[in-house]
Amino acid sequence: MSQRPRAIDQDLRARAKRVIPNGMYGHEATHLLPDNYPQFFSRAKGAHLWDADGNRYIDYMAAYGPNLFGYGCPEIDEAATLQLAKGDTLTGPSEIMVELAELFVGMISHAEWAIFCKNGTDATSMAIMIARAHRGKRKILCARGAYHGAAAWCNPFRVGTLPEDRAHIVYYDYNDPESLQAAAKIHAGDIAGVFATPFQHEAFLDQHMPTFEYAKAAQELSSHEDALLIVDDIRAGFRLSRDCSWSDLGVDPDLSTWGKAIANGYPISALLGSDVAREAASRVFVTGSFWFSAVPMAAAIATLKRIKETDYLEHTVTMGTRLRAGLDTQARQFGFGLRQTGPSQMPQILFEDDPDFRLGYAWVSACIEHGVYFSPYHNMFLTAAHRSDDIEETLLATEKAFQMLRKGAKSLGPVPQLQILKAMVG
Ligand code: PMP
Repeated sequence: MSQRPRAIDQDLRARAKRVIPNGMYGHEATHLLPDNYPQFFSRAKGAHLWDADGNRYIDYMAAYGPNLFGYGCPEIDEAATLQLAKGDTLTGPSEIMVELAELFVGMISHAEWAIFCKNGTDATSMAIMIARAHRGKRKILCARGAYHGAAAWCNPFRVGTLPEDRAHIVYYDYNDPESLQAAAKIHAGDIAGVFATPFQHEAFLDQHMPTFEYAKAAQELSSHEDALLIVDDIRAGFRLSRDCSWSDLGVDPDLSTWGKAIANGYPISALLGSDVAREAASRVFVTGSFWFSAVPMAAAIATLKRIKETDYLEHTVTMGTRLRAGLDTQARQFGFGLRQTGPSQMPQILFEDDPDFRLGYAWVSACIEHGVYFSPYHNMFLTAAHRSDDIEETLLATEKAFQMLRKGAKSLGPVPQLQILKAMVG
């Protein structure tokens, strides 16, 4: 169905195929997306993205989370540029590392200390080390299917990993205190940590908010076992709250992991901890060549200040709510049912009666032709840079996509991309 120019993207893909395994890797590879999704982009500003062929999109993926205040946010970029003129990756950390730790710890109620790293997986893997160092125990309880990164202990696929890599990872069902308690009972006395994402936000599934009973059970169990409760706020951090996401529920973890949005796209992540975990955190050896780089720290300081001082959060909720209401009305008009789940500022949009995702794939593929970048399987993100005009323009595009879907729904076949996923899950 491709109508927009794609020649440059096609050429880059052909070149990439020769020098990058499989042409691209990881979550930004387009292998699981409809054929007309661009793989390569040339620039971005605010809530807009331009692909390598110059096609413009209103972007609802926000770089899979890092974009919170808009691509190229002037105040954040200026802070980074000023720091770059002074120095970035040096023989020792910059003085602003202390300022960043003070600022961050001051914003998160459970936190008394911070360690900075690069990616979310650094933070979650370090959380495990600290949880194990805390009392010398082994087992880590994780919700089945929850994403905590791409390291061998948590990679969603098995290729290249060993059963031994996750020998001490124990799975329970999210939002199910009984399943959590049953898992804990089997390993009582050997539980080092309990992981939980702030809400259930897995690909291809509806999103679910945590029940208070579940969050409380995770906290009580951790404290009973002298284990550390870890909230993985890497994706949802600062999108639900200006504090740790579970603090609004009255459940303060011992550790929380952060990444994605904390520097508006500059490469930095963090592990925050309470006093209980300080001693173990002081004993583990954790580091990386770029973990002390000052430019992302300057960007993080500027981002955290904007988080404290602006109404960005309320704005993303308003924009997300408007988008959700508009899509619901359109879907009804065209005779489709949408399942829009999770917080409106982090929406997951799936279709009713669409067990093999063919309706969803055809609809987002039509949206892309009309300049709106949605995901058919991953939760999305509103940003402080989405304006009312963007939502209106989006709804014009989605209306055309619903029209197209109504005409063609009956002739749609299975989604070939999902065969790739089946093969990967193996
Ligand atoms: N935890 C969660 C909840 C995530 O969403 C992600 C990234 N999608 C990670 C951990 C891993 O972060 P990174 O990709 O930066 O290693």
